[in-house]
Amino acid sequence: MPLTAQKIGSLLFCPNCGTLLDTPNGNTPVVVCEQCKHEEPASSFHDIEIVTRSHPDAFPSALRQKRKTQTKLHEGKVLPKVAEKCPACEYPEAFYEEKQMRSADEGSTILYTCVSCKHGWRVNN
Ligand SMILES: [Zn+2]
Ligand SMILES: [Zn+2]
Repeated sequence: MPLTAQKIGSLLFCPNCGTLLDTPNGNTPVVVCEQCKHEEPASSFHDIEIVTRSHPDAFPSALRQKRKTQTKLHEGKVLPKVAEKCPACEYPEAFYEEKQMRSADEGSTILYTCVSCKHGWRVNN
């Protein structure tokens, strides 16, 4: 019984050594494995041709989409501003954020971020 290539998604792998096989260039009847010289008939690729073609641009655009969403989320976070002097540049305004500590006894911590130089510091309540 002859060996046939393993199909994973839109890719074909050599049945002898597991090397990823190149897609045929259109003129050759077989694809030869670079590692062990196994000859895979080009017909093995025929039913996955459509998938292979749409694959290259589908992936990067999905990545780009994800990056865009993350940036949007970050920009959407608006903190209240309070009159607090920055210890680094002495700018009189800072962003204010209150963080509840894990244990109730510890109270909460105020996080300040300078509006001007983005220096951050914290004050325990
Ligand atoms: Zn091989
Ligand atoms: Zn500052």
